[in-house]
Amino acid sequence: MATLIEPCPFCDSGHLHISHHLLSHSVSCQTCKSTGPHRRQLEDALLEWNHTSKLLRSARTGEHVQVHGRLHDLEDAVRNLASALRHGPGGQEAAAEYKLEH
Ligand SMILES: [Zn+2]
Repeated sequence: MATLIEPCPFCDSGHLHISHHLLSHSVSCQTCKSTGPHRRQLEDALLEWNHTSKLLRSARTGEHVQVHGRLHDLEDAVRNLASALRHGPGGQEAAAEYKLEH
């Protein structure tokens, strides 16, 4: 049965090589030379490689979401500040003075 091999968990490369050793098999990346766990069963070596790949990729996606969340917080803070300046006490006058001076 053909098991699909996930791309390299470290560099996302699809240039993978399956090494057959005397008592074990392992998946290695031809691009960054990282090697997956050696397992007696080829199937296990593939499964663990895939598992690592998915784990690391979902971890990376999680980081992106966090950065995105922080950006949103920042945008909200800027918006709140802008509306506070516009609608805050004396905000209108301050804006009018600003226009007169320039
Ligand atoms: Zn790689």
